[in-house]
Amino acid sequence: MSDFYERCSLCPRRCLADRAHARLGVCGVPADVYVARAALHMWEEPPISGERGSGAVFFVGCSLGCIFCQNGAISRGGLGKFGVRMDAESLADTFLRLQNRDRANNINLVTASHYAPTAAEAIAIARRRGLTVPVVWNSSGYESVETLRLLDGLVDVYLPDFKYCDPNLASLYSRAPDYPEVAALALEEMFRQVGEPRFAHGRDDVEDGIMTRGVVVRHLVLPTHGDDSKRVIRKIYERFNSSVYVSIMSQYTPVADGLPDELSRPVDAREYDDVVDFAVDLGVERGFIQDGGSVGESFVPEWDARPQ
Ligand code: SF4
Repeated sequence: MSDFYERCSLCPRRCLADRAHARLGVCGVPADVYVARAALHMWEEPPISGERGSGAVFFVGCSLGCIFCQNGAISRGGLGKFGVRMDAESLADTFLRLQNRDRANNINLVTASHYAPTAAEAIAIARRRGLTVPVVWNSSGYESVETLRLLDGLVDVYLPDFKYCDPNLASLYSRAPDYPEVAALALEEMFRQVGEPRFAHGRDDVEDGIMTRGVVVRHLVLPTHGDDSKRVIRKIYERFNSSVYVSIMSQYTPVADGLPDELSRPVDAREYDDVVDFAVDLGVERGFIQDGGSVGESFVPEWDARPQ
């Protein structure tokens, strides 16, 4: 296991940081897994949360590090302030608690790419001990195909972002000009693994209508950048048509410090509706949109520093 972390190339940054000996790369965390929160989460797309909620496990650190991140408290430098240290065994216990005690519809691993080998081991352990609900991999989309292959057969539903088509935006806001090509390759691998969407029907462990297999691609509309949003939606639709769901998100919240002027306000209804209308005109039928009620700081979860 420590091999993966000694010269870390788990994500496309390929820092080669020795995380096994507490040297940090861009993701900002050592090989030890830190979890900021593990609890039912009601604010994912309907076939992910359902009525009972998704069993969300939020990991500390992030290899993408967008300047506008609304979870910046844990994605950057949260170590020591947030998080409970876990190994694969205790992570598996957490997954089983969310399933058995909290009756979560799924286990939703939020930004775990920099911990992928440990997360994969934990899923395998939990499966052997009776985990039956779907496992959701909820990520930035900035992932290497090699690392995603560690999850083949373990993850049921992929929930990646597709943030930008424009390398200049990806460079400016995430210091990752290769994001568009990396995310496209990652999406191909995710779809190869899980294929067309499927949903629970008549299962007693998850609600009817919960996604049990498939890909939902999220795109967060940023203020002033509707044209790139349209490019993202066109790219996904032209490649996958109705084989993946597209979730167009309006919840951008300018909570980070030092944002450039164009990111210092929420997305207004006109620019969001313009992107949604574009998707509808294009022919996107399998998708999700957000109403205005999701916008605002209240959408940002409370990081309580320990799993509940
Ligand atoms: S997971 Fe972290 S240390 Fe490893 S390559 Fe990515 S950013 Fe660098």
